[in-house]
Amino acid sequence: MRDVIVVGAGPAGSSTSAFLARSGYDVLLLDKEKFPRDKPCGDGQGPRSVEMLKELGVYEVMKEKGCHRLYGAIVSSPNGSICKADIREANIERITRFWTPRKMFEDIIRTDIENLVGFSTPRKIFDNILKDAAIRLGAELIEEFRVTDLIIEDGKVCGVKGKYQGEIVEHRSKLVVGADGAYSIVGRRLGMFHQRPEHIVYGVRAYYENVRGLTDLVEVYFDKGILPGYIWIFPISKDMANVGVGMLARDYNKSSRTLQEYLQTFIATNKFAIEKFQDARMVGHPLGWRLPLGGQAIKNHTTGALLVGDAASFIDPFTGEGVCAALESGKMAAEVIAIALERNDFSVASLGEYERRWRERFEEDFKYSLRLKWLASSPWRVNYLVRKASRDKDLAILLVGIITNIFPQKAMFKAVTMLKLLRPF
Ligand SMILES: Cc1cc2nc3c(=O)[nH]c(=O)nc-3n(C[C@H](O)[C@H](O)[C@H](O)COP(=O)(O)OP(=O)(O)OC[C@H]3O[C@@H](n4cnc5c(N)ncnc54)[C@H](O)[C@@H]3O)c2cc1C
Repeated sequence: MRDVIVVGAGPAGSSTSAFLARSGYDVLLLDKEKFPRDKPCGDGQGPRSVEMLKELGVYEVMKEKGCHRLYGAIVSSPNGSICKADIREANIERITRFWTPRKMFEDIIRTDIENLVGFSTPRKIFDNILKDAAIRLGAELIEEFRVTDLIIEDGKVCGVKGKYQGEIVEHRSKLVVGADGAYSIVGRRLGMFHQRPEHIVYGVRAYYENVRGLTDLVEVYFDKGILPGYIWIFPISKDMANVGVGMLARDYNKSSRTLQEYLQTFIATNKFAIEKFQDARMVGHPLGWRLPLGGQAIKNHTTGALLVGDAASFIDPFTGEGVCAALESGKMAAEVIAIALERNDFSVASLGEYERRWRERFEEDFKYSLRLKWLASSPWRVNYLVRKASRDKDLAILLVGIITNIFPQKAMFKAVTMLKLLRPF
């Protein structure tokens, strides 16, 4: 019997496996795909992900492979106002003197700016780097193994069943981790799969080559019909971009257009996009996926099993960023599992420590992210904010820093910040 079976070798599963294997546990990692494999995503890895990449020892690998660095953003509002900010130009002293309390920027002040920026790396490359790290640290990976069911005995999860090379195969373990993403079979089997349309986003992304005017800034377009969702252009090289759109399932279900139609209309009619996509060509096909958002009152552990990453609904409800929470939840799960294995206690109470830790790490962020989502749900509010930021460099940097997860989201909601925002132009 293995110590732990991890279902899914995406960021959450590779992170869980890497941390457990590094501590000397016997880990079996199963994935239904053969790597390198694709995963629909915006391909952005923000500063929180970068921190985890360092812990996993793959930050240098990313740099060696020349993964594209991102230093800020261009934000466009529904009425076409634009604000633009490069974090390398941030004057934190001035921002904290005028816009927001200094206290929450202490860590940032002490950090080298290079540590504050992210990467944009196609998931086909990124996930492969992570799964290699998990294997290097000692996890065993079986590819093309599709988990179809759990083995549950006396109320405890004891392993998995799946299809492998045309046969039904069983693997047993002391613990099972569901890291199988937004359509998690482990979550479904445990009754922990959540479908509420106000907590789900649908997203579509496509790759375009020959895109003009790409820089090392991500581009975010708040378009009236999709708020609080947005359209993005994330450069992955100097002329290739990941272009996509994300929209709340609640709104999409009422919409008469498909996400691909929203994207095509944007490319054909938006005044900035027309210029950018003049000579551009789509590479491959657009791919859609589901984003289960954080901030729901949910349970994601039971006797002998727990969920991490998208399977546990940990995506930032405003930005749609989920890779960082996938990596971080993998680490938290590994730490709690290590304690459970030492004590030979796989009860709900023992694994409840995982819930305590993820709530402590994510819950406040989810709260402020939900407020940002509310802010971004009104065209009027987005127009106002972006117009104001287009005239004030420090506010532009604050706004961009918050949207790209470089600055804490709560900085936006300090009384002093709100009051200054409301001051007339
Ligand atoms: C359109 C879109 C854009 C996004 N943009 C960003 C972004 O720019 N930045 C960001 O941080 N996040 C983004 N996200 C969110 C991000 O993609 C996810 O949060 C992230 O992939 C979660 O990682 P994970 O490991 O939990 O799941 P996944 O990456 O989905 O990995 C799950 C793994 O499980 C395997 N699996 C599934 N079922 C089974 C099974 N039955 N048996 C065996 N294996 C199985 C899959 O093959 C896969 O390898 C975006 C999401 C979408 C849809």
